[in-house]
Formats: sequence, structure tokens, C-alpha cells
Amino acid sequence: TMGSVAMDAAGNLSGMCTTSGMAFKMRGRVGDSPLIGPGLYVDNEVGAVTGSGQGEEVIRMCGAHTIIELMRQGLSPKKACKQAIERIVKRDPARAKDFQVGFIAISKAGEIGAYAVQKGFSYTLTTPDVAHMVYPAESYFA
Ligand code: ASP
Repeated sequence: TMGSVAMDAAGNLSGMCTTSGMAFKMRGRVGDSPLIGPGLYVDNEVGAVTGSGQGEEVIRMCGAHTIIELMRQGLSPKKACKQAIERIVKRDPARAKDFQVGFIAISKAGEIGAYAVQKGFSYTLTTPDVAHMVYPAESYFA
């Protein structure tokens, strides 16, 4: 999955994601990425969120929308992403060692954040001043 979240010069938020789904997926499987709520959610009053990874885990807790609601309650994008990832891991910590989920988020204030289950999830940031800086997201498992 590739996803992005953006803010325009007027402060309006947007987001997108695109995916081929999981390798060897069951016929007819629908992952999180085509679903508005789990894989992508934008609320122009709060923020924009998208993610990548094991879609079933993300669908179960409506990942992107959950993060938006945590941000609405005042959490920073990073803390909101972290809390969502912790919720995913807590469901089955042993199994979580074997899958990846990562989220990126931007707030209405332009603050950005990301968090993942495993290391190796990175994102790029482009601003009027900086083009395509790559950052590794922090992760639950080191
Ligand atoms: N999120 C996608 C899915 O579960 C897979 C991916 O991120 O590569 O369909």
C-alpha cells in the first residue's frame, strides 16, 4: 500500500491510498485500503490518516478513523498513531510479532506523526522548504 496525507496552502486536508492488497490473498478479499474508515480517513476539522500493512488488523479497529477520533480528543498525530498500534498489538501480542501495520497522520495544525508495529516503516515529508525527506517511523517492536 502507498498512502499520503496532505495539507494545501489554505490549510485544507486530503489523503489517498492505493494498494494491490496482500500477496496470496483469498479470492474476493477486501483489505483495509479500499475502505474509508480503516485504511483512510480525512476530517478537515481534525486531520488526515492513512496506513499500510495487515488489513484485517486495521479493519477490526477501524484504524484511520480511530486515530482521527483520538486526535479530536487532543492527542498529537504520533501519540494517536501509537495508541492505535498498541491496541492492535494488545489484541494478540504473540501474533503481532509476525505482521506489520503502520500509520501516518497529519493534524489540522500541520503536525505530523507516524507509528508502526515493526521497524522498517518509513515515510517521506515534503514541505515548501524540504523535498522528500525520509523518516523512519518509531515502532512497537524494536
Ligand atoms: N493494507 C493492504 C491490505 O491489507 C496491504 C498492504 O498494505 O500492503 O490489503
